[in-house]
Amino acid sequence: MRIARFSLPSDGPAGAPSGMVFAVIEGDGLTEPEVVRPMRGHPFGEPDLVDGTVPLAGLRMLPPVLPSKIVGIGQNYAGHAAEMGSALPADPLMFLKPNTAVVGPGARILLPEQSRQVEFEAELAVVIGSLCRNVAAADAAEVILGYTCANDVTARDLQRSDGQWTRAKGFDTFCPLGPWIQTDPLPDGAQVTGTVNGDVRQQAPLSDLVFGVPEIVAHVTSVMTLLPGDVILTGTPAGVGPLADGDQVTVTIDGVGSLTNEVSLD
Ligand code: MG
Repeated sequence: MRIARFSLPSDGPAGAPSGMVFAVIEGDGLTEPEVVRPMRGHPFGEPDLVDGTVPLAGLRMLPPVLPSKIVGIGQNYAGHAAEMGSALPADPLMFLKPNTAVVGPGARILLPEQSRQVEFEAELAVVIGSLCRNVAAADAAEVILGYTCANDVTARDLQRSDGQWTRAKGFDTFCPLGPWIQTDPLPDGAQVTGTVNGDVRQQAPLSDLVFGVPEIVAHVTSVMTLLPGDVILTGTPAGVGPLADGDQVTVTIDGVGSLTNEVSLD
C-alpha cells in the first residue's frame, strides 16, 4: 500500500476531509489510472478510508509524513565511509535533523549562502508506525509503518569545519522525503540509486548496509523513544557529490518509488 499526503480541495469525494490529508494511492498507472482515496485522520493504526476517490493527476503531493524527529545514521555503507576518510563505526552513528528541514516531492532544495559545498545523499528512510522504545531487532518490523526515499542533503564544508553536524544537515529544505510511504516489504535485491540531471551517481544494494534496518531500529530505540511518523535515515552509499543551482536530483529505492527535487539558490 502506498500512503501519501496531499492538499485536497473542499469539493472532493463525499465525506472526505479537505486541506492537508493522508490518502492511499490506488491503481498501477498502466492498466488502470492512479487515483487517490483520502483517509480520515492518520495512517497509524487501521486507516479510515473514505468511499470516493479523485484522480492522482494534477494533485500536489506533500511530504508523506510530518515526523517529530528525524534520526540519521552516518557512515553506514563501507564505500561512503571510505570516501569520507572514516573508519566504519562500531555501533550505528546517530545524528538528528530538524523536522523543519522536511520538504516533499517536487519541492526545491535551497542552497544556503553559508555553504559552498552542498551535497546530495540518497538514502532509504524508515517510517515508524507506533510509539516504541527498547525494540529488539527481531521485533523491528512490528514498529515500522513503511519505507520512503530520502535525500540527506548536507553542507559538506560546514560538516567538516563545525566538527558536529547540526548546521550542515539542518538547513530548511535539507530533508526531502517521498513520494509516499510504501508499506509493502522491500523486494529482495532492492537498490538505492541517486541521480543528478539523469546521471547515476550513487547505486548500491540495501544489503550493503553495515547495520541493517532491524539493528538500526534496536539501537535508536535503546537511546530514545520513537513516535508514530518519526523517520530514520539509514545512510548513503559512495558517490556523494555537490549540487548546483538548477540541478534535478532524484533518489530511487526499488519497490518504493522515486523522489525528485530541483536545486535552487536561496
Ligand atoms: Mg546521510
